[in-house]
Amino acid sequence: MRNRREFLIGGAAALGFSLLPTRLVCAETKVDVVVIGGGLAGLSTAHNLLRQGVKSVVVLEARDRVGGRTLNLPLPNNHVVEGGGEWIGPGQDRIAAFAAEMGVETFDAFYEGEGLYEIQGLVSKGLLPEMSAAQGYDFTRLATTLQGMADQLPLGQPWQANNAKSLDSITLASWLHSQSAAAWTVEAFRIITRAVLSGYPERISLLWFLHYIQSSGGLLGIALNDNGLQDLRFVGGSQLVSINAAKALQGRVHLNEPVEEVSDHANGVVEVVTRRGRYHASRVVVAMAPADTLRIDFKTGLSDQRKELVQRWAGLTKLPIIKHSVIYDKPFWRDAGFNGSVVTDRAPLQLVFDNSPQDASIGVLTAFLSAAEVPAMASKPERARLVPQELSRYFGPKALSSIGYVEKDWSTDPWSIGCITPLTKGILTAAGPALREPVGRIHWAGTESSEIGCGYMDGAVRSGERAAVEVVAALKA
Ligand SMILES: Cc1cc2nc3c(=O)[nH]c(=O)nc-3n(C[C@H](O)[C@H](O)[C@H](O)COP(=O)(O)OP(=O)(O)OC[C@H]3O[C@@H](n4cnc5c(N)ncnc54)[C@H](O)[C@@H]3O)c2cc1C
Repeated sequence: MRNRREFLIGGAAALGFSLLPTRLVCAETKVDVVVIGGGLAGLSTAHNLLRQGVKSVVVLEARDRVGGRTLNLPLPNNHVVEGGGEWIGPGQDRIAAFAAEMGVETFDAFYEGEGLYEIQGLVSKGLLPEMSAAQGYDFTRLATTLQGMADQLPLGQPWQANNAKSLDSITLASWLHSQSAAAWTVEAFRIITRAVLSGYPERISLLWFLHYIQSSGGLLGIALNDNGLQDLRFVGGSQLVSINAAKALQGRVHLNEPVEEVSDHANGVVEVVTRRGRYHASRVVVAMAPADTLRIDFKTGLSDQRKELVQRWAGLTKLPIIKHSVIYDKPFWRDAGFNGSVVTDRAPLQLVFDNSPQDASIGVLTAFLSAAEVPAMASKPERARLVPQELSRYFGPKALSSIGYVEKDWSTDPWSIGCITPLTKGILTAAGPALREPVGRIHWAGTESSEIGCGYMDGAVRSGERAAVEVVAALKA
């Protein structure tokens, strides 16, 4: 006897259609290049292709919006605050140029006044946290040594260093301990890596850490706010760069179109399949974090090294980040001489910034939280209650009088890995070259693949420039 499912399928077939497969592929399109991902890397790729004369380009984006890991969240009075990538600084010239080309201006982030620190229970204020001369000496000694080691690496190809294997076989934490770092120094590096690399020294490969600081232009720039990589903000929010870039691509960006399959056929055509269509292209650029490519089925196979890179990266334990902005009717902390920044090793807050709009018509304090570390903050209403309480420890009772909040929880995002996940030991030397090396007619972009600015918006834009050059050369050949 037929069961109900067989009966339904049989009946459907008799009516001339099948219940399976569920994909609704209805259109076939021929283009020169398909770009997968409408974040900064994908949009930069498309713009650079057009600039170099390749006009037949389509950008396929899974979400109903462009911008990927940049996201504008609405604030009162038509202002916005970023839930993802936000600041840029010296040396990040490519994102600066791309934004300017897209008509997005920058303004100085607010750092006038004193910053607050809480390290190992000691609360202090000023330009730097309070530390003893011995602590300052130890931190500077190790930071200088690390910077010197980073400067020795072949830029963007750390796996080619003579001592790459040995640097990739230990963690930053083991190296710090082997150098007899004082407890304060280790704690300072924990704060830096948690804030900037979304991970702790115990899990970060020393080689990855050195590559990251070299790629970003140096440890000092990473750590500094004013005149460092947190120096400038975008008028209208960082996502506006992508929104304007997509508009300028004049219908070439297709939203709500997650790519499911890519097949690089022997006849020279790469076939890209989404629920809505089938694209035939000469080249494909995949513009996203390697771990995010795991959702795409590469039917005709990837190199073993690429597979290893993706699988090992996707399998890493993440430190999920929530960027939570508390709104006030004014930036009251400025009147008390504070610039709104807090750097702390005390959970749940990691870092706090004054993220008020340029005109300061309302006040905004943005905190980077990890609910994974503070289970009491796992729910949104609890965060709304507890974050102002935490802020009041630093800025007094006025911090309790918030008028609202907005946040972006990257741990629940279906399309982005979130903040960059630092690599653990052994991955960079085993599979690093696969970050950029094309596989057949498939090319790779995304900030993680960038030699310069890896992890930052600048790296995303640069990766698109590089991928476009690769593709144009391949098309000409
Ligand atoms: C909380 C946070 C704070 C940050 N702060 C800063 C900062 O202050 N300064 C800075 O420079 N950088 C910062 N960054 C990093 C910065 O946002 C990223 O480096 C940059 O946005 C990455 O761009 P991308 O294009 O490489 O990747 P993404 O932005 O991730 O773009 C990839 C795109 O691919 C799409 N996609 C995924 N799967 C598919 C699929 N199957 N089919 C089609 N499309 C798909 C995604 O939806 C996404 O739009 C921050 C990031 C986070 C999360």
